[in-house]
Amino acid sequence: MSSAGDDIKVEVLEHSDNVVKMVLHNVPVKIANSIRRSVISLVPTLAIEKVIIFRNDSIMNDDMLAHRLGLIPLKTSLDKIRELERTNGKVSLVLSVSAEEDMRTVRSGDIVCKDKDVEIISDEIDIVRLGKGESIQLEMEAVVGRGKDHAKWSPVTVAVVRGVPIIRFKRRKCDDYCDKCVDACPRGVLAKEDGRLKVVDKYNCTVCRLCEKACPDNIKIGIDENSSLLYIESVGQLTVDEILRASFEELNKKLSELYDALKVVE
Ligand code: SF4
Ligand code: SF4
Repeated sequence: MSSAGDDIKVEVLEHSDNVVKMVLHNVPVKIANSIRRSVISLVPTLAIEKVIIFRNDSIMNDDMLAHRLGLIPLKTSLDKIRELERTNGKVSLVLSVSAEEDMRTVRSGDIVCKDKDVEIISDEIDIVRLGKGESIQLEMEAVVGRGKDHAKWSPVTVAVVRGVPIIRFKRRKCDDYCDKCVDACPRGVLAKEDGRLKVVDKYNCTVCRLCEKACPDNIKIGIDENSSLLYIESVGQLTVDEILRASFEELNKKLSELYDALKVVE
């Protein structure tokens, strides 16, 4: 069990703008899970919410078209999102395409954003196909929202928390040429080096227990629920650093509200 004296340490295993994998030592899974839930549902992002359709000759009906446009990720900074939220601001976008010569695909790159601080994450997202002579003309408004209201505002494709694997084996029994457990592991967690069993990539273990099944007497797999493995992948609207910063800000806000409510009870 973690206690008040246990130091919290963060060990970063992988880090880029879009991905972070870290071990939170002495942070129980139930605490790390509130960070995960905040990341998914409380971090604000920008998404298309209102679509005004002037012309839609395509085979796709207006509702479906508006839904597809809402799911196109818009990239801007967290500071810009906070400013838009404070001022109740909106970002205008326009889509006007005609397939004059031949049939063509309307893609996200055809959308024109009227705010220079906001960009569409990719120009290659297919929206709809137009037949020869067909047109599409519409205006859109993007607003700040949160994943708890609609998944289009959620900034992550993956957000996972789990306990840290514990791998124990009887060292003396393992010092020979048998390697059933190594062969059974699909994740390359175990290896035999100079006849000795070694754990070479502990955090890659998914606790599938296949090694345990292969050699039940000598290897045991467990989970330490008092430390957590946190893995986050961004959709791309915000960097993982911005997502984590915003998730802590949102959690702090919730805790302050709770604290104020408790003071009223006193
Ligand atoms: S755990 Fe079992 S299979 Fe693996 S090295 Fe030890 S004795 Fe061999
Ligand atoms: S539990 Fe599964 S992933 Fe972990 S070491 Fe054993 S076989 Fe490999």
